[in-house]
Amino acid sequence: MPDLTTKRSLEPQWREAAAAISDSRSILVISHIAPDGDAVGSLLGMAGALRNAGKEVTAVIDGGAPKDLRFIPRSDTVLAAIAEVEFDLMISLDSSDIERIGVAGAYGLAHSKRVINLDHHPTNTRYGDIHLIVPEAVAATEIVFDFLNHLGSAITSDIAYALLTGLITDTQGFRISATKGRTLEIAQSLMACGAPLALIMAQTLNRRPYEEIELWKRVLPRVRLDNGLISADIRQADVESVGLQTPADGGLVSHLVNVDRALISVVFKETAEGSIEVSLRAKPGFNVADVAFALGGGGHTLASGCTIAGSLAQVKDRVLPLLNQAIAEGTPAFE
Ligand code: AMP
Ligand code: MN
Ligand code: MN
Repeated sequence: MPDLTTKRSLEPQWREAAAAISDSRSILVISHIAPDGDAVGSLLGMAGALRNAGKEVTAVIDGGAPKDLRFIPRSDTVLAAIAEVEFDLMISLDSSDIERIGVAGAYGLAHSKRVINLDHHPTNTRYGDIHLIVPEAVAATEIVFDFLNHLGSAITSDIAYALLTGLITDTQGFRISATKGRTLEIAQSLMACGAPLALIMAQTLNRRPYEEIELWKRVLPRVRLDNGLISADIRQADVESVGLQTPADGGLVSHLVNVDRALISVVFKETAEGSIEVSLRAKPGFNVADVAFALGGGGHTLASGCTIAGSLAQVKDRVLPLLNQAIAEGTPAFE
């Protein structure tokens, strides 16, 4: 059996976090707004283990678990809003800054005695009291897996299901360059605990709403490729005319960066609130995390994002020069 035990360098933080949990009765677990598979998976994995340990657990994400992630067992336990109560401990998952944890997170920060910040974004702002931050982890669920092993918690089939969902969605099915041999070992271990890999793939990466095709039909004619920078914009009128509910469109920006002549991709999406969501992806050898962070957002070296107030034209004028600079500063890792 491969060594799947916790990394030694985090030993003091693991111990401090374990003690905080053991001293707590009521625990709030939260994750980021516009939740993805890793947000809901890490939340449900952690919540399930805490409930099995007899803790009084409240799991909240603003708006609840999105429809397309309700296939994950126990996703019906994720509340859409928080009740006015106090907590001994809050555990924040997969969330790099306090804007990302939304209304529920802001409430939790003010009404919890201690806060554990468990995350894998290199741009994490280190809010909270105890930091389980592992930028090398491909998903927050990888850190939850390590932490549960540290605690000696049993990984039930429901917990394994939730954790494998985060691993699959954040690695795009083990395709991103950060995927390690150990990622596959953890996946194997979760499958041995009962997580259904093929079913999770079918419910996530291999399932798209037809409305997305209608949206892409409107958006693709405006795609531009200049000097390795490929860009597209999604207008509010497009989103409204096709009736697409999903808040983000990681699908298009990830698809665009795979174009052979592209080095960085960007999708600008108008929101109903008059701001622009900017999604960024890079080929290995380039860095879009620094660009997103400088613009008030965050993410990973190869996948990041931010939200900027202003019109499409204004936001493009601000972002495109920074991306051209990121292209000039990088070198492709693979030719
Ligand atoms: P997306 O392009 O929305 O799929 O997001 C890609 C990555 O960027 C994810 O790791 C997100 O956590 C991160 N990200 C996206 N938007 C923001 C934001 N406004 N603030 C911080 N991180 C973000
Ligand atoms: Mn996430
Ligand atoms: Mn993640």
